[in-house]
Amino acid sequence: MANEPEPMLSVEEAQEQLMAAVGEPLPGEDVPLDEALDRVLAESIRSALDLPPWDNSSMDGFAVHAANVAGASSEAPVRLRVVGEVQAGGSPALELPPGCAIRIATGARVPSSADAVVPVESTIVQAAGSGSASGDAAGPGSPRSMGFRAGEPLPEACLVTAGVEPGAFIRRRGEDVRAGTRVLEAHRRLGPAQIAMSAAVGLGSVRVHRRPVAGVLSTGEELRRAGQPLGDLGIPDANRPGLLALCRDAGALTVDLGIAGDTVESVLGALRPAIERSDVLIVSGGVSVGPYDVVRAAFEAIGRVELWRVAVQPGKPFAFGRSKPRESDGRSVLLFGLPGNPVSTFVTFQLFVRPALERLSGMLSPSVDADRAVTEDRLQKAAGRRGFLRVTVSRDERGDPVRDGRGRLLVRQAGHQGSHVLSALAAADALAVVPETVGQLEPGAEVEIRWLRR
Ligand code: AMP
Ligand code: MG
Repeated sequence: MANEPEPMLSVEEAQEQLMAAVGEPLPGEDVPLDEALDRVLAESIRSALDLPPWDNSSMDGFAVHAANVAGASSEAPVRLRVVGEVQAGGSPALELPPGCAIRIATGARVPSSADAVVPVESTIVQAAGSGSASGDAAGPGSPRSMGFRAGEPLPEACLVTAGVEPGAFIRRRGEDVRAGTRVLEAHRRLGPAQIAMSAAVGLGSVRVHRRPVAGVLSTGEELRRAGQPLGDLGIPDANRPGLLALCRDAGALTVDLGIAGDTVESVLGALRPAIERSDVLIVSGGVSVGPYDVVRAAFEAIGRVELWRVAVQPGKPFAFGRSKPRESDGRSVLLFGLPGNPVSTFVTFQLFVRPALERLSGMLSPSVDADRAVTEDRLQKAAGRRGFLRVTVSRDERGDPVRDGRGRLLVRQAGHQGSHVLSALAAADALAVVPETVGQLEPGAEVEIRWLRR
């Protein structure tokens, strides 16, 4: 038995099985817009409003009858008497008699009696009582183009030095969005622009999927909390801080479950109380075939291991399972057993845990930032497993990635490729994906990469 080839799932088979088990995203909840960044919409958003909600001016200037200023030029300006003013947020209920103008600000509602706006740059204003143009350099031949000054009193008149068509410089009601139109689709991740859009259509909060809660546990008698004395036999627990950060990066909330020893009881002691308050439990270490690898036994005690061992390097002993349905809501908690070597932990998180967290968060398909590259080094890995090698990307003096004539990046090994070599992972810009069928890639060979940092 020990010498038989191990049955192993491919990366895709494992991802497929796992995502089928993950099922539907978590239910929706309403959150205020200032908490909505990076959340995923649980329902599409329709506008309750016309945007803009009324015709408004796109310029600071004068609301006019276009017919009154037809043919105006700097040689032959048209003088209009200024009969009032409307500012943004101000009431526009003003009469506009023929031959007159209303001073108007950008975003102010256009009086219904006007049919165009003349920008202030195409006018020369005449101060009350002066009968002449105001402004230093301004005169009939040289239109003033500095706009209004703050607090400037309403001028008596303006000379229009360029005619406008009816409708000029007016932003029409509903021109951006018509009431009832869908402006954002469900499953859309909310960035700053989508948050502004939600606010613009009148929403103070949005319905998004609940964020998954991920409990993170490290296992191993040798582990010490980072920053604590190590003694002769201890090493710092690197995985837990790394995994907590990965979970947050993937949009999850986290529960730090600390460090468990290498016994089933110790692991269960940490996992059991976390079941009710987590959607996902992530355990690193103890998932391989040694006598102290107790995590699968712990999973079997609270649920079932549904998948173990994937044809991937690093990360082969990866395990996935589900808890028994919990009492409170009948949901099963997802159980992830990640191999303890820090690079294996990281790679298996990216391949299997991240897509699950993203699905629970409401995303339809996982975010994968792939690119094409050429390797400058020889890349070696085990045949029969898909390799995810830690590589750096060539950059110019400004730090921008360099590409060859065919648009491909140039990559080199970030360091030793052992699954314990955290320094190479920390230095890496990307993971180079080397297919199962390939044992070695020669310099100059093309390779797909997954960006870690651009
Ligand atoms: P295991 O998967 O428990 O067999 O661990 C494999 C290797 O990873 C061992 O050398 C462990 O000491 C190391 N290891 C396991 N967990 C961690 C951790 N949380 N932080 C750093 N190294 C770890
Ligand atoms: Mg261990």
